[in-house]
Amino acid sequence: MSQEWNIRSRGHVCSLCQKPLADRSPVVSALRETTDGYERFDCHPECWKTAQRDWEPFSQWDGVYFAPVKEEKKEALKKEDAGEILRQLVTLDDPAMKNVVYVLAVMLERSKILVERDAKELEDGTIRRVYEDRKQGDTFVILDPRIRLENLAEVQGQVVALLSGTKTLGEVAKEEEDVSASAEGPQEEPKGADEASEPETA
Ligand SMILES: [Zn+2]
Repeated sequence: MSQEWNIRSRGHVCSLCQKPLADRSPVVSALRETTDGYERFDCHPECWKTAQRDWEPFSQWDGVYFAPVKEEKKEALKKEDAGEILRQLVTLDDPAMKNVVYVLAVMLERSKILVERDAKELEDGTIRRVYEDRKQGDTFVILDPRIRLENLAEVQGQVVALLSGTKTLGEVAKEEEDVSASAEGPQEEPKGADEASEPETA
């Protein structure tokens, strides 16, 4: 089942009056919960203020609208790769990858690619964080898995391996599944266990 509802693109016209949003002008964005995900609104602040509505936004923030530009700089490739990997991960919506998705989002936030717009604690105690791509304006709704500090370095290592291309999404997903399967009991496997070294008897 695809969970693409976790990503919402920014609109280029006002969701309320349908007139274009002007480049570098203020915009009010909001997410509305629906039965199958989220509906996104991007509006002129005036339209948002004056429109009548009978629903409460899941999340709402003030931003600035940037008209799409054609990127020609190649130096930005690395960062766009990271954003593209996040996009794939969020679309996959694999529960085993929840730590990786979250740490990647935080890293992208620290490198000023994403900005955290909101954080919501749901009734089941989980936290959903709303991140927005500063340039493209896409919104990512990401589960905060509340990673324990002792696990953080390991997850960061996996993210770095993904970004550098030394591991594929599938390889990292497999590792994460193994980790969550063994997370039930105390950790028995010593780190860095050398699985490949089978004793050879000639
Ligand atoms: Zn409008």
